[in-house]
Amino acid sequence: MADCKVIVAGAGPAGLAAAALLAKEGLATTVVAPAAGEDPRTVALMQPSIQLLRYLDIWPGKLESETSPLRKLRIIDDTGSLLVAPNLEFASQDLNLEAFGWNVPLALLLPVLRRRAEDLGVTFVEATATGAVSRDGAIHVTLSNSTEISATLCLAADGANSVLRKAAGIATDTWSYDQTAIATSFAHSMGHDNISTEYHKPAGPFTTVPLPENRSSLVWMERPARAEALMTMDDKQLAAEIQIETHGELGLISNLGPRKSFPMKGLTARQLARDRVILIGEAAHVVPPIGAQGLNMSLRDAALAADLILAAKDPGSAGVLAEYNAVRRAEVVPRQHLIDLMNKSLLLGFLPLEGARALGLTAVHYFAPLKRFIMERGLQQTDNLPFAMRAS
Ligand SMILES: Cc1cc2nc3c(=O)[nH]c(=O)nc-3n(C[C@H](O)[C@H](O)[C@H](O)COP(=O)(O)OP(=O)(O)OC[C@H]3O[C@@H](n4cnc5c(N)ncnc54)[C@H](O)[C@@H]3O)c2cc1C
Repeated sequence: MADCKVIVAGAGPAGLAAAALLAKEGLATTVVAPAAGEDPRTVALMQPSIQLLRYLDIWPGKLESETSPLRKLRIIDDTGSLLVAPNLEFASQDLNLEAFGWNVPLALLLPVLRRRAEDLGVTFVEATATGAVSRDGAIHVTLSNSTEISATLCLAADGANSVLRKAAGIATDTWSYDQTAIATSFAHSMGHDNISTEYHKPAGPFTTVPLPENRSSLVWMERPARAEALMTMDDKQLAAEIQIETHGELGLISNLGPRKSFPMKGLTARQLARDRVILIGEAAHVVPPIGAQGLNMSLRDAALAADLILAAKDPGSAGVLAEYNAVRRAEVVPRQHLIDLMNKSLLLGFLPLEGARALGLTAVHYFAPLKRFIMERGLQQTDNLPFAMRAS
């Protein structure tokens, strides 16, 4: 006998969103996760993800008033390469959109999602999942507090080192990049005009993303040794480095926020579902932070999983798992390859690859239909959006 219909392991953004989507339709859902820590990252959430927040009745409200819209995205070739790509500018108004998305601090998003999930009746258990076994038409998950809970299905949203992925016997392809990303935020004396800028540099993208008033968040990808040196600098020294890297385009840099570094790696699960376990978020795929794709893909995992679970008599049946695996892999794997290629074209310093990147960006610059196609793909705005992501 199952204790609930669905267990969600992990209370990151993917797990919380999935739990809230299921509970909104009345499904008995339990989230198992340890207490949350601090995270200085912000996430650029594109229109379909914003629509999901609207569907959960937590957008606009506080999330909108304390965040910033992204109306333009710029890509600047700052590689110093022989083969310079033209600078690209994408405007949301070209797609008749108010904004491509909004830049939301995780420190703001996570408590709002959690409160909404609680209001919708999700049960929270503060523990980690230590294992799982599928038996007699149910999944039995063991917890760090020496208890066990059962459900018809488990959503593994327990991050890149997913215990539940391993328990389901799902293999992964993993790789690392000679890069570390530093996430922080800063104030600047000039306005950002709601423009996010991705400076393509030899060690990877250096991306500023607007926050309210004259502040921006930063994801700075660097070689590990240089990143380590930057992490040990005091705020004044780091502000001076940011000043140099932004070429003064945002004026004087000051008032840095907390910072955290992330070694860059990639991961693809070879199957996205098995034995009454469905993988969502970074348990399923990890990509470097280029083009704000990671969490937007993760929320789409959550929304598709919710659609399939809510339509099924047995959410853990082979049919549900097979459909989730087929639909998500068809979307996720090519996207991961593209992000990997873009990152490597900067990182490897390999002239033919740099040439291909310059050529590709030149084509996007001069060919409007291609530019529009790239914008729509970047937004993950496709015809087969899950229900919660469709504009009403
Ligand atoms: C620097 C940086 C910038 C980024 N910027 C963007 C961006 O602008 N836009 C975007 O779309 N994406 C962005 N991303 C990607 C995005 O942050 C991730 O995709 C997202 O945080 C992943 O969410 P998640 O819920 O899958 O995993 P996580 O946030 O890792 O959550 C995992 C959860 O599982 C819990 N957990 C772990 N082990 C267990 C266990 N055994 N049992 C139960 N619970 C467990 C953890 O405590 C946590 O609650 C960025 C990533 C980086 C590194």
